[in-house]
Amino acid sequence: MQKTKIVATIGPASCEYDQLKALAEAGVDVFRLNFSHGTHEWHGEVIKRIKRLNKERREKCAILLDTKGPEIRSGDLRVPIELDEGDELTLSIRAGDYDKTGKIGVNYDAFVDDVEVGGAILVDSGVMKWEVVSKTDTDVVCKVLDGGELTSRRHLNLPGKDVSLDPITKKDWEDISFGMEMGVDFIALSFVRHAAEIFTLKEHFKTHKSKIQIIAKIESYEATNHLGTIAEASDGMMVARGDLGAELPMAEVPTWQLEIIKTAAQYKKPVIVATHMLESMIEHPVPTRAEVSDISTAVWQSTDAVMLSGETAGGEYPVRSVQMMSEIVSVAEKAVNHDDIRELAVGHEREAFALTAATMPLDLPEVEAIVVITRSGQTARLVSSFRPSVPIFAFTNETTTRRQLQLIWGVRGFLIDFSSVPEKTIQRAEAAFLEQHPEWKGRKYVLVSDFLVEDKFIPTVQVRTMH
Ligand code: PGA
Ligand code: MN
Repeated sequence: MQKTKIVATIGPASCEYDQLKALAEAGVDVFRLNFSHGTHEWHGEVIKRIKRLNKERREKCAILLDTKGPEIRSGDLRVPIELDEGDELTLSIRAGDYDKTGKIGVNYDAFVDDVEVGGAILVDSGVMKWEVVSKTDTDVVCKVLDGGELTSRRHLNLPGKDVSLDPITKKDWEDISFGMEMGVDFIALSFVRHAAEIFTLKEHFKTHKSKIQIIAKIESYEATNHLGTIAEASDGMMVARGDLGAELPMAEVPTWQLEIIKTAAQYKKPVIVATHMLESMIEHPVPTRAEVSDISTAVWQSTDAVMLSGETAGGEYPVRSVQMMSEIVSVAEKAVNHDDIRELAVGHEREAFALTAATMPLDLPEVEAIVVITRSGQTARLVSSFRPSVPIFAFTNETTTRRQLQLIWGVRGFLIDFSSVPEKTIQRAEAAFLEQHPEWKGRKYVLVSDFLVEDKFIPTVQVRTMH
């Protein structure tokens, strides 16, 4: 069983039912919908197709809605502008029609306050680079350092700057409401800066009794200053290497990747490594050897999941990209030595139980799995965070929990009805599992479950035999 999970972004190259099915069969665990593009109508259709797919397959894929977030965008242009090194251009918060004013618009008023004379502006994550030479109350004059072609509504980064756009924009809130209606499993918050915006959204979900989990995308300078508090507040993090490499010096991206994975582990939260993992496969049927190494490195750093963006959303080879990723992951996983578990501090009783369960297979080689009975999935996530040597089978009575566990390293989720008598629940779990995997009869596993002692539920860890 593959332990590292695969997230794939859906776009025009992969949105039809048969394409989604082929991607799921190639190994996708989580489908990502990027709300920087597409209408609610388009995304709604895709979500319906994924739900239909989930009805028809035994494995269930989770759905992650990725918000656009507070992105700085340049204005509309009727025709692209060619910019050469040394050229000057004017960005303006009052720009109307470029053809009449000769000024390029930006999407928010405080832009002028956020930029600094001498500071850099990156276009499309660094394809072009400008330097601010002067500014007025409404206009920012820039000199072109790295030239190129400017088309409509390009994404601008201000490296190392804290941007004053609302952390969750009006569009984001509309998209989040849509996601709640459609029943998505995760919301990824783009350009998170502080834990505060995660708390705001958490509170919103609580009032609406929504079980959606929040993934904090680490892609701003400000977020790298608050990794711990963001990890603690969120349900998971994403190493969003695309924007991270524009907001911070590009050479720092791998170091931040390591730091974010470590921080997520400390707080026992899942983490996704994203962007450019198989970039060359957008156009070519085989990846570069550097890309193969990059995915393997992420696996060895013990990420929960690796992600595909353009490769599956708009590329020539969406299914081959997933197959390739899956092959790389499984080969890399075989090279991992299982003599130890991940060393993490234990903060409370439940974590101590998870640690015990994760450690037992090291001392008892006859134990081949860890079985967790869990409503919210939390116990399964805790066990996973210690990176045990055997697979974790999580039995839950919640369909959302089951799908959310698709993101978690080494976990396979199963849906069963819970009984008020824990022993009965365990019998059901075994029966459901053996029906799918009869070869497991007679094999040993570690069980993590609450037990009824007189009138109290007590967490326990036991060794049992499938029967
Ligand atoms: P995006 O986020 O693809 O939504 O921009 C990921 C990244 O920036 O790496
Ligand atoms: Mn991004």
